[in-house]
Amino acid sequence: VITLKSAQARILEEVRALPAETVELAGSLGRVLAESVSADIEVPPFPRAAMDGFAIHAEDIRRSRTRLSLSGESRAGAASASPLRPREAVRIMTGAPVPPGAGAVVPVEETRVTPDGAGIEILVSPDPGQHIAPAGSEAHKGDELLAPGHVIDAAAIAVLALAGKAQVRVGGRPELALVVSGDELRPLSERPADGTIRDTNGPTLRALAESAGARFVDLGRVRDDRELVRAKLSQGLDADILVASGGVSAGDYDFVKPTLKELGVRVSFEAVAVKPGKPVVFGVHGRTLVFGLPGNPVSAQVAFALFVAPALLAMQGGRARPHPRADVVLAEPLHNRAKRLALMPARVQRGDGLLKAWPLPSRGSADVVRHALADALIEMPPGAEAAAGSVAAAILLGPRWGRGGPW
Ligand code: AMP
Ligand code: MG
Repeated sequence: VITLKSAQARILEEVRALPAETVELAGSLGRVLAESVSADIEVPPFPRAAMDGFAIHAEDIRRSRTRLSLSGESRAGAASASPLRPREAVRIMTGAPVPPGAGAVVPVEETRVTPDGAGIEILVSPDPGQHIAPAGSEAHKGDELLAPGHVIDAAAIAVLALAGKAQVRVGGRPELALVVSGDELRPLSERPADGTIRDTNGPTLRALAESAGARFVDLGRVRDDRELVRAKLSQGLDADILVASGGVSAGDYDFVKPTLKELGVRVSFEAVAVKPGKPVVFGVHGRTLVFGLPGNPVSAQVAFALFVAPALLAMQGGRARPHPRADVVLAEPLHNRAKRLALMPARVQRGDGLLKAWPLPSRGSADVVRHALADALIEMPPGAEAAAGSVAAAILLGPRWGRGGPW
């Protein structure tokens, strides 16, 4: 039995990043950037109006209640023809180039058209430079905008588009093959009877794999039969990552571990001091990383998040860890009676300017219902008793926590 930290470190030591490839920008969502992306132009490329109103000359800023004559128009995509002169204003629209000589943009609400319609009156005293984004104020030509290892989300796609990247270099996509084992497992179309249950891990682990960037290969379900298990597992050894669900414990029908060894998998560890997720097997076969995950559905999900997702991300060249951590204030007391690190599901919300955690009454490692409500797993050391109001570390789950961070 090894600690969570050393288990995670051993896995990352075995990861080899896959060769990068070029994809279309539209197909890059969720991939990991494999190049440094710089601005090829000044951003914005011209001094840009941030409001609809009037561009006024720098010399006219200090004159209050000025009347200015209208000398033209600048709109997005069509600049005004000539530089601005003192005592003149140009009607300007958001996104339009601000003409040379202009010192501020005055919003239309802060102006009045003169009765003859030929000029405007400025009703306020504008600040120099207001509502003008100077050329290069967001980025200069040559500045790095995104670094390699950045996971591409919608916000990163905006930056790539800004830099004109119609194609982008990304880390290779790992192929993840899944074998689900258990005599009791039935397809979802069946109503389970006589001690059988629905296979929840198959669809769940697929979703976890795909959301961590894997190409999913479904090897299907297999019965607890040594020969059948062996045949399935050996098929999966062609993938970058082989994941087996169930059959990794010490029961009479748990064939995964001995079979992996027979197939020549070099087993690195067979148990981790963490709850849920203790019976986790990790090994290496050639260039394939092999994970045997516990069949209990919450254990399988947590073990995937702790062990498989970081490996998938690292194979793609990712920098961040998939799940950030944060300190949370416990809203209720929490007790870990186990002799290993417990990860306890909780709802997390902001309260009193802090992240506050309400432990969920989980019924254990099969309780996917409570797990689906959890925003975080609270880390409780072996034997720990924490009072309400005390601070604990938590692993943040789900898509709401942003772009990942250090563990
Ligand atoms: P195992 O790891 O095979 O000993 O299974 C531990 C528990 O998880 C047992 O209660 C199994 O019935 C259950 N289980 C195993 N595989 C799955 C699965 N794919 N979907 C739902 N429950 C499972
Ligand atoms: Mg089983």
